Amino acid sequence: MTDSSRRSILAAAAVLPAALAGLAAAQTTTGSTGARRATGRTAVVTGSSRGIGAATARRLARDGYAVTVNYLTSRALAEQVARDIEAAGGKAIVVQADVADPARVAAMFDATERAFGGVDVVVNNAGIMNVGPFAAMTDAAFDRMMATNIKGSFNVLREAAKRTRDGGRIISLSSSIIRQVPPAAGAYAATKAAQELFTKALARELAGRNISVNAVAPGAVDTQLLRQHGEAALHGIPEQTPLGRLGQPEDIAGVIAGLCSGESAWINGQNIFANGGMS
Ligand code: NDP
Repeated sequence: MTDSSRRSILAAAAVLPAALAGLAAAQTTTGSTGARRATGRTAVVTGSSRGIGAATARRLARDGYAVTVNYLTSRALAEQVARDIEAAGGKAIVVQADVADPARVAAMFDATERAFGGVDVVVNNAGIMNVGPFAAMTDAAFDRMMATNIKGSFNVLREAAKRTRDGGRIISLSSSIIRQVPPAAGAYAATKAAQELFTKALARELAGRNISVNAVAPGAVDTQLLRQHGEAALHGIPEQTPLGRLGQPEDIAGVIAGLCSGESAWINGQNIFANGGMS
């Protein structure tokens, strides 16, 4: 071997580790927390203009997911979530869709596939809480809640079942209220109990595709969903919670991000209660 060919081989060998490291970094990079980043993977988060959904969209974007931010009416808030994600170096699109409308839900998944090439994580989060004793609940309030929380959730899960790529995650929002069932929350609690059953059934249906399907059941979280019912809705919660405070959207986003990580792959068909020990 000539000196010049030996030099070329040595030069190539010196470059190779850096080239291989670059390739690996393009597929999986490590974030500031040391967590594996989901580079090239995508997430649809329904109802992510505010509250738990917005915190989840921001968190998944930080973990490397390109995110579809969905809203019903809060366009400015949804656009702000997307801008925040992009300002932090992530990718996001904003899609208006009423989850109660199957065609709009399908169009949201279409838009995600067009923008990002596929769907890896679906966070089935959009929901409303209408409360009132049985004797006082109006048909309109009951029907709208069922359309959003049950039919809407079903619409999202049906599309998720068809489109989520193998190895993905599907996570629905249940509620710790299904353990407590306070008076006046019977209809809402029923819609959240349904998420546990949807979850168990879909986990079984998707067997063989390495997709885990779980629910998260938060306790009281400081969002508009509770605050719209006045300060009384939050009264006494820190005192009844062993961890001594009200939940924050980021607490739940962290649980959802944990379920999306490779470390949680063995959790499937479960409803994870996340409530500071309240129930
Ligand atoms: P918020 O009221 O803060 O946010 C609700 C989100 O859902 C908003 O982005 C809203 O969009 C969106 N949304 C509502 N209806 C529709 C619809 N038909 N189609 C699409 N998007 C819709 O609620 P939270 O963040 O508190 O709740 C999120 C989920 O967590 C819900 O499923 C809720 O039941 C559950 N949960 C909440 C708890 C809590 O204490 N906060 C406790 C346990 C569970 P827009 O802004 O455009 O209206």
